[in-house]
Amino acid sequence: MSDTTPKIEPASTTPPDIDVTGSCVGCGGDVAVRFTGRRATGLCRKCGFVSHSLVHQHDDGHVVFEQLVRAAA
Ligand SMILES: [Zn+2]
Repeated sequence: MSDTTPKIEPASTTPPDIDVTGSCVGCGGDVAVRFTGRRATGLCRKCGFVSHSLVHQHDDGHVVFEQLVRAAA
């Protein structure tokens, strides 16, 4: 007896890329955030500043960003 029930997988387990207005720590510009697993990488559309954040998703669906702030070399 084979299981012919198609396995329904979610189209995407991560949110789509989003724009975060005015969140660049460098210039205050709009940052395009791309999710890669549990991390989010932000790229400023103005100055090109790249920021990294950890993404925590709670059971209730609430998503929290934890920005990884690194001192400039
Ligand atoms: Zn910027």
